[in-house]
Amino acid sequence: MSYLVDNNGYYGEFGGAFVPEILHRCVEELQKTYLQVLQSDDFRQEYARLLRDYVGRPSPLYLARRLSERYGCKIYLKREDLNHTGAHKINNAIGQVLLARRMGKRRIIAETGAGQHGVATATVCALMNMECIVYMGKTDVERQHINVEKMRMLGAKVVPVTSGNMTLKDATNEAIRDWCCHPADTHYIIGSTVGPHPYPDMVARLQAVISEEIRKQLLEHEGRECPDYLIACVGGGSNAAGTIYHYVDNPDVQIILAEAGGKGVETGQTAATIALGRLGIIHGARTYVIQDEDGQIEEPYSISAGLDYPGIGPMHANLARQKRALVLSINDDEAIRAAYELTRLEGIIPALESAHALGALPKLKFRPEDVVVLTVSGRGDKDIETYLSMNQ
Ligand SMILES: *Cc1c(COP(=O)(O)O)cnc(C)c1O
Repeated sequence: MSYLVDNNGYYGEFGGAFVPEILHRCVEELQKTYLQVLQSDDFRQEYARLLRDYVGRPSPLYLARRLSERYGCKIYLKREDLNHTGAHKINNAIGQVLLARRMGKRRIIAETGAGQHGVATATVCALMNMECIVYMGKTDVERQHINVEKMRMLGAKVVPVTSGNMTLKDATNEAIRDWCCHPADTHYIIGSTVGPHPYPDMVARLQAVISEEIRKQLLEHEGRECPDYLIACVGGGSNAAGTIYHYVDNPDVQIILAEAGGKGVETGQTAATIALGRLGIIHGARTYVIQDEDGQIEEPYSISAGLDYPGIGPMHANLARQKRALVLSINDDEAIRAAYELTRLEGIIPALESAHALGALPKLKFRPEDVVVLTVSGRGDKDIETYLSMNQ
């Protein structure tokens, strides 16, 4: 039995493709095409070249000596914060735009919450001369001004969405509506391991470059490919999926996932989907969802905009359900403390999202010989104001 996707697009009881009738053809076309393209020599060469020369890969695997000393083990940081545009999301955006081109699509649409996925998509569309439309809740447009300006400078059209709460969920609905209207010439880029099959598997495969590099780099540093622990934060799950991809079926490697506890799992102001979610359908997939008694999706909360999602990728729901991964909720204050710790010990300011992965360290018991690989999914430049305001 594998923890990767099965032939029907499921991870155990999670996943599938629950989409409106009018989108069946689009999703089916993608299901039939994606593996063939991703595995072709032509795609692999162009993807590898762009990851190397444009993104700056491989990202370093850095032995954090002072952090290691603090926790009594050997901690390596996988530095996705050093990628072009400052996070892992560009790995996926490049792969999907290359796929879209090979499928004859000229128009790219995306939804974004905090704007990180929107910026990554707009960046790659500029590079490859593709039309780019990004749907973003009006509330988020106002909250994330700099990212909106970046997307516009890159030539993308940012469409503020005024339905519902005017946040990510509403932007997603609008993007799906657009896709329904333009199925022939449009590719919809989802930014995480969520959405209908094949998106979770496709995004995981594109992010799997992370674990592919970890294997090689760890072999050089430690003389072995496998760490004892892998640690990553989870919003929808893409940086975690990339971190664990080549290790997930090896039970010797312990997997720790950090989800956003917000103000506390019991406060109602949280994004801890594994702790609180019940089985439902969100964004076209069956997975855990934070919902009320009537099945209405509840508005999540986290200090970190990238973890502020009321669902979780089906792969990760299954890992939690099967107890293959240990899922910890890390609260806002724990993440902030962890971010300051990394900054002061190693001179690396992590993204607020990545700070949740670091927040797992004090909750674990390590042996001195343990080798831990923790993915720093992004850099903290975008979060400086939040860090300073929280430390007063
Ligand atoms: C978007 C984002 C995340 C959360 O998304 P995943 O798909 O769960 O990885 C984490 N870290 C950073 C820096 C992000 O921008």
